[in-house]
Amino acid sequence: MGLDVGPVRRVTPVSIERGDHREVERLAKLSPLVLADALVAYRRAMQALASGEPVEVVLDGLCAYVDRQVPATRCAVLIVDREDALIRQLAAPALEPEFAALVDGLRVSEGFGPWGASAARCEPVVVEDVESDPLVRDFAETLDGLGVRSLWVEPVRRASGEVVALITLYSADRRLPTERERELIVNVSNIVELAIERDLLNEEMRFSANHDPLTGTLNRVRFMELVNERITSSADRVAVICLEIDRFKPLRLTLGAHAGDRLLAEVGRRLLEVAGDTGLVGHFNGDEFGLMVPAEALANVDAVAEALMASFRLPIVLGQGEFFLTLSLGIAYNNGVTDAYSLVREGAAAMHAARADGFGRHRVYDHRIGTQLLDSIEREVELRRAIDSDELVIHYQPLLRLADRVWDRAETLVRWQHPTRGLIGPGEFIPLAEQSGLMGALGDKVLELVIAEAERWSQTLPGVQLSVNISGIQLRRPNFGDRVLTMLEAAGLPPATLLFEVTESAILQDVAAAQAILSQLRQAGIRTAIDDFGTGYSSLARLGELPITGVKIDRAFVAGLGNDDKAREIFKAIADIVRAHGLLIIAEGIEDARALAEIDAFGCDFAQGYHLCRPGPPEVITAMLAAPVPERLWRVAE
Ligand code: C2E
Ligand code: MG
Ligand code: MG
Repeated sequence: MGLDVGPVRRVTPVSIERGDHREVERLAKLSPLVLADALVAYRRAMQALASGEPVEVVLDGLCAYVDRQVPATRCAVLIVDREDALIRQLAAPALEPEFAALVDGLRVSEGFGPWGASAARCEPVVVEDVESDPLVRDFAETLDGLGVRSLWVEPVRRASGEVVALITLYSADRRLPTERERELIVNVSNIVELAIERDLLNEEMRFSANHDPLTGTLNRVRFMELVNERITSSADRVAVICLEIDRFKPLRLTLGAHAGDRLLAEVGRRLLEVAGDTGLVGHFNGDEFGLMVPAEALANVDAVAEALMASFRLPIVLGQGEFFLTLSLGIAYNNGVTDAYSLVREGAAAMHAARADGFGRHRVYDHRIGTQLLDSIEREVELRRAIDSDELVIHYQPLLRLADRVWDRAETLVRWQHPTRGLIGPGEFIPLAEQSGLMGALGDKVLELVIAEAERWSQTLPGVQLSVNISGIQLRRPNFGDRVLTMLEAAGLPPATLLFEVTESAILQDVAAAQAILSQLRQAGIRTAIDDFGTGYSSLARLGELPITGVKIDRAFVAGLGNDDKAREIFKAIADIVRAHGLLIIAEGIEDARALAEIDAFGCDFAQGYHLCRPGPPEVITAMLAAPVPERLWRVAE
């Protein structure tokens, strides 16, 4: 007996918690016989639900129970679709298929039989005589053919009042339900409600486990699973399109994370629209999405790429702004590819190849791209080795202090001494390190080499200072500042030996985090300058908020100096604002005496460039730093 009570105890509080006491009152009023019946049904249904049976199975069981309890009737449970308010038959173990055809697609409204009426009115509807009741006029013939004389519809309501399902009893006799039968149906409707409620909850949980909450598309794991299923379970050819939004990262930095998220949500929505019912859309990461479409849809690849691009031709409106996005697409077919991961990797490789040709392009994967992909994987392996062995070397480029025209310090610039390819510049491998998670290790290695070199230089050049380029990834690593200070201390060097150069974009990735770490470094005695200033998207006004010492104006602004009035105006405007913030001004990329003269006249503090000295190995640069600055640097060639 004790066992039988269990389910009641488990279920009743659910209703009470929702503020719904109907259940308790009803149970209290039931005759002992009905109560016992109900408990058995209740218990079976709860057990089936608890063991994870699909809702249809649970409902089939309940219908069968009602069929046994009420003579000469057959029971069906119809569900009301929440999205489009249409009625659909869900469970009816004793009914012919014609019953489903009768009710499927009816609307929740008067004029759609006793089912539409009951759902719309939220109350039971009893049709005592199918032949004469006007409510079933349109259905009378079919019902008569199926041997139905009466029918009773009971709405199943959630605690909120919303009708989620309808229980229908089709009776072979022309009659009304008895009091006991009515009680039974009402009682069963409560169990049905619980089963459907649980199913909705499961569905919501399933949805959020498989979907990306931001864009409403599938998440990466689920996308891969479904593509895999599709590839392995059918001979159909499919294609995966990998896509990225062009220039998304700088756009997100400028707009802020919240607006960036809203853009992504809209992108997800448009992609779902393009994918339609036959395609799948997955959100991988940041601005990376994947689309799976049946291969026949891709018979004309250019047309599909065009359709995708076209769906972004209308601007995305955010607040006051309108944004026109373009996409880069890479397409891969499952020709011989047997798993989703390989397919997506090929699509991504094709997308990167397309991106290399410019924005708004698409490419279909082919073996040539595959070879390039292998190349980049090989380069990644090689770079890993280069960091661990001694293939990274540092070159140095001196900076001239303009006030007294003496060499002041040097910037450290990393190079890769490749065993077969010779000396490779950082432009070729820093981006690879950043993409492949090697930037932290590479940055540590550079610091190690630079500090060791500074220790050697300090013998002959006391008080030597070196400017080191630091990537945003390094800056945000935990304990970055502490580790650098420990390294300096171990080498017996003062913190002021190092000055960090951090690019504008590295700071903008997370201004608050950068502010915190730069303040910590400054307090410890390590100063920071912003590198490549003017190429990011920061506002000049923000300069005052950052704990920095100087600003290195990007060489793009220096390039025109000496012969272009507009370039001069722009450079001067930037320099004036930097100075107004009390920051040191460094001009890089000085390539001739005219440019040097100009920046000198603007009152810049430091100059650097090929004209003064090209970057070189330590032995060349230490000799240079020890010698006086040559007078000829100021001589303008006629
Ligand atoms: P950067 O920090 O702006 O460094 C200046 C770059 O301009 C260097 O290129 C330098 O060789 C070059 N340069 C110097 N004077 C002139 C000139 O008069 N004209 C022209 N056209 N170029 C000049 P490099 O060595 O190829 O370095 C490129 C970038 O790689 C650096 O730009 C820096 O952002 C990055 N980098 C270099 N070493 C490291 C490092 O150890 N760590 C990190 N995170 N980045 C580094
Ligand atoms: Mg630099
Ligand atoms: Mg620079």
